[in-house]
Amino acid sequence: MAKIHWSIFKSPKTLVSIMWMYLNKKWWRLKLIIASLFYNDFISWNYACDIALEPIFWFVENFTGVIGPILIVMLLSLTGLMIYTAYYIGIPYWWEKSPSITIILLIIGHWLLINVLFHYYMGVKVPAGNPPEGGLIPEAVSICKKCIKPKPPRTHHCSICQKCVLKMDHHCPWLNNCVGHYNHRHFFLYMIFTAIGIIFIMIFGVEIAYQEIFPDYEQELDGHPVKINNNFEIIPVTEMMDHLSHEELDEIAKHEYKIKIKETRRRLIIFAGLICVTGLFILVGLIWWHGKLITNGETSIEARINSKEIDKYNKQGKIYQNPYDFGILENWKIFLGLKQHSWLCVLLPSTHSPRGNGLTWQTIYDKKDEKI
Ligand SMILES: [Zn+2]
Ligand SMILES: [Zn+2]
Repeated sequence: MAKIHWSIFKSPKTLVSIMWMYLNKKWWRLKLIIASLFYNDFISWNYACDIALEPIFWFVENFTGVIGPILIVMLLSLTGLMIYTAYYIGIPYWWEKSPSITIILLIIGHWLLINVLFHYYMGVKVPAGNPPEGGLIPEAVSICKKCIKPKPPRTHHCSICQKCVLKMDHHCPWLNNCVGHYNHRHFFLYMIFTAIGIIFIMIFGVEIAYQEIFPDYEQELDGHPVKINNNFEIIPVTEMMDHLSHEELDEIAKHEYKIKIKETRRRLIIFAGLICVTGLFILVGLIWWHGKLITNGETSIEARINSKEIDKYNKQGKIYQNPYDFGILENWKIFLGLKQHSWLCVLLPSTHSPRGNGLTWQTIYDKKDEKI
């Protein structure tokens, strides 16, 4: 027996069904209008993420320049504090232990310190390099939309400096400067020498830190002016003080001063330890990242561009080759200036300029003979 299903929406031409169809059509139109308001032919997840990150970009563009000098002062203050701790605590400790070892440590420590300060100063003071104003650009690959000027290869616009920067890597707030063609080596070597310096301090400071944080209590209490009587009675401090002579009171004051000094030393060591661990953690990450870039013969900006190119080529079944990747050893030699100079230019402070003028670049497709 057939079943009859009643539906007011499906019944032909009733008032309810006409109303239903009308409302359905209105809803469809409303959805279309809303969708048309936000429709963009170029919309993609990357585009949507860029829009969502726009406030962060705005903050970085507007305030990195302002906080730059503050970060420089902060970094120099922390470095100063580390030097003070090494001189105030480290050197006297090692001198007491072994003067000959201390002399060796002083030589190594000062070699590291000179390199750290030199590369930091150069990183801050040496401009990354910009295309010449009104000058002839031998090779242009595009036009900068912000400067409305031709862009040489590997040049990118820095929205913080508001200039085009030769072989731009990134804008470093800690240097308050753009890292690019002329100061990239100083930036990298600053990180390397600082990391070695921190490891050096940690190796020769761990013993001092251990003794300060976990002191020998018997030695600590030796000479303490407070005595416990044989009956283990607690004597009120004020009552005790009344019976003390001037010499004994002086002794207590001296002891309290000693405790204060010890406490200051302990705090200084803990703070220096925290700076070392945090600094090393950050530096290892940065060195690893930049080391990888130098190995691949690219900059931070080029790494992003190249990864997109690699994906594009892979989809077409081809292999993308970075035109500035001359092989690991060659890339490092070019970066450090070892093509023209000896290893001494890495071990000792050197002001030598990088190869080329940053306007034209030799690529793997060029002839073997030097173009620049
Ligand atoms: Zn520009
Ligand atoms: Zn910049």
